Amino acid sequence: MTLRPPHYTGAGLDRADDRREDAAALLAGPDVRVLPLWHGRHAVDAGGAPLWRRRPDDGAQPIFLGLTGATAWFAEDLSALPAVDPDDRDRGPGDTAAGLPADARWLDLRAFGNRLPRELAAILAYGRGLVFWHQTHRFCGRCGTATEVRKGGHQRQCPNPACNAPHFPRTDPAVIMLVTDGDLCLLGRQGWWPDGALSTLAGFVEPGETLEEAVAREVREEAGIAVRDVRYRGSQPWPFPSSLMLGFEAIAASTELRIDTTELEFARWVHRDELAGFGEWGDGSDGPKLPRADSISRWLIESWRLGTGR
Ligand SMILES: [Zn+2]
Repeated sequence: MTLRPPHYTGAGLDRADDRREDAAALLAGPDVRVLPLWHGRHAVDAGGAPLWRRRPDDGAQPIFLGLTGATAWFAEDLSALPAVDPDDRDRGPGDTAAGLPADARWLDLRAFGNRLPRELAAILAYGRGLVFWHQTHRFCGRCGTATEVRKGGHQRQCPNPACNAPHFPRTDPAVIMLVTDGDLCLLGRQGWWPDGALSTLAGFVEPGETLEEAVAREVREEAGIAVRDVRYRGSQPWPFPSSLMLGFEAIAASTELRIDTTELEFARWVHRDELAGFGEWGDGSDGPKLPRADSISRWLIESWRLGTGR
Protein backbone atom coordinates (compact mmCIF):
# COMPACT_ATOMS: atom_id res chain seq x y z
CA MET A 1 0.00 0.00 0.00
CA THR A 2 1.35 3.39 -0.92
CA LEU A 3 0.90 6.49 1.14
CA ARG A 4 0.54 9.93 -0.37
CA PRO A 5 3.38 12.35 0.41
CA PRO A 6 2.75 14.72 3.33
CA HIS A 7 0.16 17.45 2.80
CA TYR A 8 1.27 21.04 2.03
CA THR A 9 3.93 19.66 -0.33
CA GLY A 10 3.96 19.35 -4.10
CA ALA A 11 2.71 22.81 -5.05
CA GLY A 12 3.67 22.23 -8.68
CA LEU A 13 4.56 25.90 -8.71
CA ASP A 14 7.45 27.44 -10.63
CA ARG A 15 8.92 29.86 -8.12
CA ALA A 16 10.41 31.77 -11.07
CA ASP A 17 13.09 33.52 -9.09
CA ASP A 18 14.26 35.19 -12.30
CA ARG A 19 10.91 37.00 -12.52
CA ARG A 20 10.84 38.39 -9.00
CA GLU A 21 12.43 41.69 -9.96
CA ASP A 22 9.60 42.39 -12.40
CA ALA A 23 6.80 41.18 -10.16
CA ALA A 24 4.97 44.47 -10.82
CA ALA A 25 4.72 43.61 -14.52
CA LEU A 26 3.44 40.13 -13.69
CA LEU A 27 0.86 41.68 -11.40
CA ALA A 28 -0.47 43.70 -14.34
CA GLY A 29 -0.87 40.54 -16.45
CA PRO A 30 -4.14 38.90 -17.51
CA ASP A 31 -4.09 35.85 -15.23
CA VAL A 32 -3.31 36.88 -11.67
CA ARG A 33 -4.39 35.34 -8.38
CA VAL A 34 -3.69 37.37 -5.26
CA LEU A 35 -4.26 35.37 -2.08
CA PRO A 36 -5.34 37.72 0.71
CA LEU A 37 -4.25 36.92 4.24
CA TRP A 38 -5.47 38.56 7.41
CA HIS A 39 -3.72 37.72 10.69
CA GLY A 40 -2.64 34.39 9.22
CA ARG A 41 -6.11 33.55 7.93
CA HIS A 42 -7.02 32.86 4.33
CA ALA A 43 -10.30 33.98 2.75
CA VAL A 44 -12.66 31.14 1.78
CA ASP A 45 -16.14 31.03 0.27
CA ALA A 46 -19.20 29.50 1.91
CA GLY A 47 -18.17 26.07 0.62
CA GLY A 48 -14.65 26.34 2.09
CA ALA A 49 -12.89 26.97 -1.24
CA PRO A 50 -10.06 29.53 -1.08
CA LEU A 51 -10.68 32.93 -2.61
CA TRP A 52 -8.29 35.20 -4.48
CA ARG A 53 -8.44 38.51 -6.22
CA ARG A 54 -7.16 39.95 -9.47
CA ARG A 55 -5.48 42.93 -7.83
CA PRO A 56 -3.98 43.56 -4.42
CA ASP A 57 -5.58 45.87 -1.96
CA ASP A 58 -4.41 49.47 -2.26
CA GLY A 59 -1.45 49.88 0.04
CA ALA A 60 -0.86 46.17 0.57
CA GLN A 61 2.53 44.92 -0.59
CA PRO A 62 1.95 41.97 -2.93
CA ILE A 63 4.37 39.08 -2.61
CA PHE A 64 5.12 37.08 -5.73
CA LEU A 65 4.82 33.34 -5.08
CA GLY A 66 5.35 31.90 -8.54
CA LEU A 67 3.69 30.61 -11.69
CA THR A 68 1.44 27.68 -12.51
CA GLY A 69 1.35 27.74 -16.30
CA ALA A 70 0.27 31.26 -17.26
CA THR A 71 -1.18 32.02 -13.83
CA ALA A 72 0.86 34.33 -11.58
CA TRP A 73 0.28 33.75 -7.88
CA PHE A 74 0.71 36.44 -5.24
CA ALA A 75 -0.08 36.83 -1.57
CA GLU A 76 -0.93 40.04 0.28
CA ASP A 77 -1.19 40.88 3.94
CA LEU A 78 -4.38 42.71 4.94
CA SER A 79 -3.73 42.46 8.67
CA ALA A 80 -3.65 46.25 8.99
CA LEU A 81 -7.39 46.32 8.26
CA PRO A 82 -9.61 46.28 11.35
CA ALA A 83 -11.89 43.34 12.11
CA VAL A 84 -15.43 43.99 10.98
CA ASP A 85 -16.61 42.26 14.16
CA PRO A 86 -14.01 41.78 16.92
CA ASP A 87 -16.20 39.04 18.43
CA ASP A 88 -16.26 37.07 15.18
CA ARG A 89 -12.75 36.82 13.76
CA ASP A 90 -14.00 34.50 11.03
CA ARG A 91 -15.53 37.56 9.36
CA GLY A 92 -12.06 39.10 9.11
CA PRO A 93 -11.87 42.59 7.59
CA GLY A 94 -15.26 42.02 5.93
CA ASP A 95 -16.19 43.97 2.83
CA THR A 96 -13.29 46.39 3.26
CA ALA A 97 -11.45 43.63 1.40
CA ALA A 98 -13.03 44.63 -1.90
CA GLY A 99 -13.55 42.05 -4.58
CA LEU A 100 -14.48 39.20 -2.28
CA PRO A 101 -17.99 37.87 -1.77
CA ALA A 102 -19.87 39.38 1.17
CA ASP A 103 -20.10 35.94 2.81
CA ALA A 104 -16.34 35.32 2.63
CA ARG A 105 -14.91 33.76 5.79
CA TRP A 106 -11.35 34.08 7.05
CA LEU A 107 -10.05 30.80 8.40
CA ASP A 108 -6.77 29.30 9.53
CA LEU A 109 -5.46 26.95 6.86
CA ARG A 110 -5.49 24.08 9.36
CA ALA A 111 -9.27 24.41 9.53
CA PHE A 112 -9.81 23.64 5.83
CA GLY A 113 -6.46 22.81 4.20
CA ASN A 114 -6.85 19.07 4.52
CA ARG A 115 -9.92 19.17 2.27
CA LEU A 116 -8.06 20.97 -0.52
CA PRO A 117 -6.13 19.39 -3.37
CA ARG A 118 -2.55 18.97 -2.20
CA GLU A 119 -1.15 21.33 -4.86
CA LEU A 120 -3.47 24.16 -3.85
CA ALA A 121 -2.96 23.59 -0.12
CA ALA A 122 0.79 23.81 -0.70
CA ILE A 123 0.47 27.20 -2.44
CA LEU A 124 -1.67 28.55 0.39
CA ALA A 125 0.81 27.28 2.97
CA TYR A 126 3.68 28.89 1.07
CA GLY A 127 1.85 32.24 1.00
CA ARG A 128 1.06 32.02 4.70
CA GLY A 129 4.67 31.35 5.59
CA LEU A 130 6.03 34.17 3.48
CA VAL A 131 3.50 36.70 4.77
CA PHE A 132 4.39 35.74 8.36
CA TRP A 133 8.08 36.28 7.62
CA HIS A 134 7.34 39.80 6.38
CA GLN A 135 5.26 40.55 9.46
CA THR A 136 8.13 39.60 11.75
CA HIS A 137 11.02 41.17 9.80
CA ARG A 138 9.82 44.73 9.38
CA PHE A 139 12.92 46.02 11.14
CA CYS A 140 16.56 45.15 10.62
CA GLY A 141 17.69 42.66 13.26
CA ARG A 142 21.16 44.13 13.12
CA CYS A 143 20.55 47.88 13.47
CA GLY A 144 16.81 48.34 14.01
CA THR A 145 16.08 50.41 10.88
CA ALA A 146 12.77 49.76 9.09
CA THR A 147 13.49 47.36 6.19
CA GLU A 148 12.29 47.65 2.59
CA VAL A 149 10.79 44.94 0.40
CA ARG A 150 12.83 43.74 -2.58
CA LYS A 151 12.66 41.02 -5.22
CA GLY A 152 8.92 40.63 -5.28
CA GLY A 153 8.86 39.95 -1.54
CA HIS A 154 11.76 37.49 -1.34
CA GLN A 155 14.15 39.85 0.35
CA ARG A 156 14.00 42.70 2.82
CA GLN A 157 16.78 45.20 2.68
CA CYS A 158 18.11 47.43 5.42
CA PRO A 159 18.36 50.94 3.90
CA ASN A 160 20.80 52.20 6.54
CA PRO A 161 24.02 52.78 4.53
CA ALA A 162 26.14 51.95 7.57
CA CYS A 163 24.44 48.54 7.82
CA ASN A 164 23.04 47.57 4.42
CA ALA A 165 22.10 44.07 5.66
CA PRO A 166 19.96 41.95 3.34
CA HIS A 167 17.38 39.70 4.99
CA PHE A 168 15.99 36.59 3.34
CA PRO A 169 12.90 34.50 4.13
CA ARG A 170 13.67 31.90 6.74
CA THR A 171 12.10 28.74 8.00
CA ASP A 172 12.83 27.08 11.33
CA PRO A 173 13.92 23.42 11.19
CA ALA A 174 12.12 21.16 13.62
CA VAL A 175 12.63 17.41 13.97
CA ILE A 176 9.65 15.11 14.45
CA MET A 177 10.17 11.44 15.07
CA LEU A 178 8.45 8.14 15.50
CA VAL A 179 10.38 6.02 17.97
CA THR A 180 9.67 2.31 17.65
CA ASP A 181 10.40 -0.85 19.59
CA GLY A 182 9.33 -3.84 17.53
CA ASP A 183 5.55 -3.56 17.11
CA LEU A 184 5.34 -0.67 19.56
CA CYS A 185 5.65 3.03 18.83
CA LEU A 186 6.04 5.92 21.23
CA LEU A 187 3.31 8.58 21.28
CA GLY A 188 2.88 11.43 23.71
CA ARG A 189 0.62 14.34 24.39
CA GLN A 190 0.82 17.89 25.65
CA GLY A 191 -1.65 18.96 28.28
CA TRP A 192 -3.35 21.64 26.19
CA TRP A 193 -4.23 19.26 23.35
CA PRO A 194 -7.79 17.94 22.95
CA ASP A 195 -8.71 15.03 25.21
CA GLY A 196 -7.17 11.80 24.00
CA ALA A 197 -5.00 13.43 21.34
CA LEU A 198 -1.62 11.78 20.83
CA SER A 199 1.27 12.52 18.53
CA THR A 200 4.89 11.75 17.80
CA LEU A 201 7.54 13.64 19.75
CA ALA A 202 9.04 16.75 18.16
CA GLY A 203 11.28 19.71 18.86
CA PHE A 204 13.30 22.49 17.30
CA VAL A 205 16.81 21.95 16.05
CA GLU A 206 19.32 23.91 18.10
CA PRO A 207 22.48 25.60 16.80
CA GLY A 208 25.49 23.34 16.76
CA GLU A 209 23.77 19.97 16.40
CA THR A 210 22.96 17.66 13.53
CA LEU A 211 19.40 16.61 12.76
CA GLU A 212 20.13 13.14 14.12
CA GLU A 213 21.53 14.62 17.32
CA ALA A 214 18.45 16.80 17.66
CA VAL A 215 16.23 13.70 17.35
CA ALA A 216 18.19 11.83 20.01
CA ARG A 217 18.25 14.84 22.35
CA GLU A 218 14.53 15.56 22.09
CA VAL A 219 13.55 11.95 22.74
CA ARG A 220 15.93 11.76 25.69
CA GLU A 221 14.73 15.09 27.13
CA GLU A 222 11.01 14.46 26.72
CA ALA A 223 10.72 10.73 27.39
CA GLY A 224 14.05 9.58 28.86
CA ILE A 225 14.51 7.14 25.98
CA ALA A 226 17.80 6.49 24.17
CA VAL A 227 17.54 5.90 20.41
CA ARG A 228 19.68 4.39 17.66
CA ASP A 229 19.44 4.08 13.88
CA VAL A 230 17.90 7.50 13.35
CA ARG A 231 16.63 7.48 9.79
CA TYR A 232 15.29 10.39 7.72
CA ARG A 233 11.84 9.74 6.24
CA GLY A 234 10.61 12.98 4.69
CA SER A 235 9.82 16.63 5.30
CA GLN A 236 6.88 18.99 5.33
CA PRO A 237 6.59 22.77 5.30
CA TRP A 238 4.59 23.70 8.39
CA PRO A 239 4.01 27.45 8.26
CA PHE A 240 2.12 27.56 11.58
CA PRO A 241 3.86 29.88 11.79
CA SER A 242 7.31 29.18 10.36
CA SER A 243 8.57 25.61 10.64
CA LEU A 244 10.01 23.04 8.33
CA MET A 245 9.20 19.65 9.83
CA LEU A 246 11.92 17.04 9.25
CA GLY A 247 10.48 13.58 9.83
CA PHE A 248 12.47 10.64 11.21
CA GLU A 249 12.11 7.14 12.51
CA ALA A 250 14.35 5.90 15.28
CA ILE A 251 14.75 2.60 17.10
CA ALA A 252 14.45 2.65 20.88
CA ALA A 253 17.67 1.59 22.59
CA SER A 254 15.92 1.74 25.97
CA THR A 255 12.23 1.45 26.81
CA GLU A 256 11.65 2.69 30.35
CA LEU A 257 9.86 6.03 30.09
CA ARG A 258 10.91 9.00 32.21
CA ILE A 259 8.59 11.79 31.14
CA ASP A 260 9.55 15.45 31.41
CA THR A 261 6.16 16.75 32.49
CA THR A 262 7.11 20.32 31.61
CA GLU A 263 7.10 19.19 27.95
CA LEU A 264 4.67 16.27 27.87
CA GLU A 265 1.63 15.40 29.94
CA PHE A 266 2.43 11.77 29.30
CA ALA A 267 3.77 9.36 26.70
CA ARG A 268 3.18 5.68 26.17
CA TRP A 269 4.04 2.75 23.95
CA VAL A 270 1.24 1.95 21.50
CA HIS A 271 0.96 -1.37 19.66
CA ARG A 272 0.72 -1.26 15.88
CA ASP A 273 -2.64 -3.08 15.93
CA GLU A 274 -4.07 -0.65 18.47
CA LEU A 275 -3.68 2.28 16.08
CA ALA A 276 -6.46 1.10 13.78
CA GLY A 277 -8.99 1.72 16.55
CA PHE A 278 -7.89 5.28 17.21
CA GLY A 279 -9.96 8.30 16.25
CA GLU A 280 -8.52 11.51 14.83
CA TRP A 281 -7.99 14.94 16.33
CA GLY A 282 -11.17 16.96 15.90
CA ASP A 283 -13.48 14.05 15.04
CA GLY A 284 -15.40 14.33 18.30
CA SER A 285 -14.70 10.74 19.29
CA ASP A 286 -13.87 9.58 22.79
CA GLY A 287 -10.68 7.72 23.51
CA PRO A 288 -7.23 8.01 21.96
CA LYS A 289 -6.85 10.03 18.78
CA LEU A 290 -4.23 10.15 16.05
CA PRO A 291 -2.88 13.47 14.78
CA ARG A 292 -4.63 15.30 11.97
CA ALA A 293 -4.41 13.69 8.56
CA ASP A 294 -2.58 16.72 7.10
CA SER A 295 0.33 16.44 9.57
CA ILE A 296 3.63 14.71 8.99
CA SER A 297 3.20 13.18 12.44
CA ARG A 298 0.24 11.19 11.09
CA TRP A 299 2.18 10.40 7.93
CA LEU A 300 5.06 8.98 9.96
CA ILE A 301 2.69 6.87 12.05
CA GLU A 302 0.79 5.55 9.02
CA SER A 303 4.00 4.82 7.10
CA TRP A 304 5.20 2.69 9.94
CA ARG A 305 1.80 1.09 10.61
CA LEU A 306 1.38 0.13 6.96
CA GLY A 307 4.94 -1.06 6.71
CA THR A 308 5.97 1.44 4.05
CA GLY A 309 8.63 2.89 6.33
CA ARG A 310 11.49 1.06 7.87
ZN1 LIG B 1 20.38 47.36 9.41
